[in-house]
Amino acid sequence: MSPSPASHSAQSPDLSRRSIVYFSMEIALSPAIPTYSGGLGMLAGDTLRSAADTSAPMVAISLVHRHGYFRQILSDVGQQTEADVPWSPETLPSAEHTVTINIQNRPLQIRAWRFDVVGATGHIVPVYLLDSDVEGNDAWDRHLTDHLYGGDTYYRLCQEAILGLGGIALLQALGVTPEVYHMNEGHAALLTIALLEQRLGGRPLSEATAADREVVRQHCVFTTHTPVPAGHDQFGPDQMNQVLGRDRSMAIEAAGGIHNGLMNMSYLALGLSRYVNGVAMQHGKVSQVMFPEYKVHSITNGVHAATWLSRSFQELFDDEIPDWRTDNRYFRSVYGIDAARIAACHIKNKQKLFAALARRTGHYFNPSVLTLGFARRVATYKRASLLLQDPARLVALAEKIGGLQILFAGKAHPADNAGKALIKDVYEAAVRLNSSSLKIYYIENYDWELGALLTQGVDVWVNTPRRPYEASGTSGMKAALNGVPSLSILDGWWIEGCAENTTGWAIEDAETEAAEAASLYNKLEKSIAPLWSNPNAWARLQQHCIGINGTFFNTHRMLSQYLSNAYFPYTDTQTRVAINAGISNTADIAELAKVRK
Ligand SMILES: *Cc1c(COP(=O)(O)O)cnc(C)c1O
Repeated sequence: MSPSPASHSAQSPDLSRRSIVYFSMEIALSPAIPTYSGGLGMLAGDTLRSAADTSAPMVAISLVHRHGYFRQILSDVGQQTEADVPWSPETLPSAEHTVTINIQNRPLQIRAWRFDVVGATGHIVPVYLLDSDVEGNDAWDRHLTDHLYGGDTYYRLCQEAILGLGGIALLQALGVTPEVYHMNEGHAALLTIALLEQRLGGRPLSEATAADREVVRQHCVFTTHTPVPAGHDQFGPDQMNQVLGRDRSMAIEAAGGIHNGLMNMSYLALGLSRYVNGVAMQHGKVSQVMFPEYKVHSITNGVHAATWLSRSFQELFDDEIPDWRTDNRYFRSVYGIDAARIAACHIKNKQKLFAALARRTGHYFNPSVLTLGFARRVATYKRASLLLQDPARLVALAEKIGGLQILFAGKAHPADNAGKALIKDVYEAAVRLNSSSLKIYYIENYDWELGALLTQGVDVWVNTPRRPYEASGTSGMKAALNGVPSLSILDGWWIEGCAENTTGWAIEDAETEAAEAASLYNKLEKSIAPLWSNPNAWARLQQHCIGINGTFFNTHRMLSQYLSNAYFPYTDTQTRVAINAGISNTADIAELAKVRK
């Protein structure tokens, strides 16, 4: 490894003891960097922030996405258009190595920018953002790392090749020799083929044996994120051959990566991972049914508390339970804090949200009126319109309970016309139904900042997916940490998080959408509104959201489960003791693992 040139603004952290590498196509690193589209990227960012806070020995790989995902613009009838969000990675230090991989039957040079995720005690998790915009590359190839989820399937496959093959090449150049490669979703599955190539050391891939594949498998962990079939990337055999070449294509087939005649990234990851999991208990079970040939575990998602807690709550917890930043289990001690102080933090959050909306949109909302929030990536299974299913009932309900405000937000993928039509439906309903007691508003350009404002500031978080398509959902977890209960379909994380009338409410399962909507309205009218009119009881509910759900649905807990169940699943007492002593000891656990080999 060559010494770092003097031009680097910051010194590279020591990577020699990093035992886990986390691969993700998108990572939400900072509100100012547009390298994410939604839940998957937020989860990746939150995971790394928890890794930094708890000193986990991790490094991460992603793409630079120079033009981001997109900024959403909504016309006055709710028609979505998109704009690029260009950013300049040149403000970041670069990795000292440029690596070359061979795809599309020609060499491709890849460089990397380093973003340091800095934890509460100063521990750094470096993230390498791969960039194909290198002089000397084919002109078209220079744009391969521009658009997150952009282009056609050929473009996507090239991106996934850069992530998997380029990521492994970079790690080798940096001298990182991990024990564990974690694929956050199937996008990164080609790393398994790169590891196989590395193992063969220049011999052709056709010589790889089952024993070689088993060695690779022992190092790989795969998390699948959606039960929606279209969410599992597939590519035709011609494209696979064109981009990856015949040798790799045959190795993919040998690893079980061809399904129904197509290259399938999830099956490739399944075939070469020793641990596979879904992202909530039910999602693990649903995935087990989808992939009966493989064992599928569950580790329920979480959110990074310091990222999603409002300033007022951070100050309260810094005073009362200051160690929460490195150990989220202290949230259980929220019961030692007067519930009225929690309610006071929420009122501040609500005022802050409404002030931001007034600034952004010129619309004024009333802080003393019950306010619901619904913000998601707009996909048809998420059913934004369930709340508006029976407009007459909704209007009557709003009058009866003394007023109701409903805030919507969310982007539809640029190619998703059905999703875009859903946004227009909500717009139309807002125009038709707005009155002195009901106010519906769709907020433009749902992103990190708006997501934080909404989950902190509304009174009830609403989620209405069609079962069983919500793998986990994380927005309701952000809300819970901020003392905001959920009203949701029993799907994803809410099956685990719902304690009726205590942390929120379940919309009852029914045969028809109309019946589900009726359950939603009944809960609003008969359970939520009466409790809302009793401030002491409501404050107690807010306390339960934090004490019961905030304590568990966070990425500190989630990462500790990955460490003990997926990354280093040892059963001997010595290692168990080390793991139970806290995840800050993971470097030692990795050392123990080496000794045991
Ligand atoms: C949290 C978050 C998401 C993910 O929300 P889900 O509830 O998991 O669908 C998506 N986008 C933004 C901006 C977020 O903050």
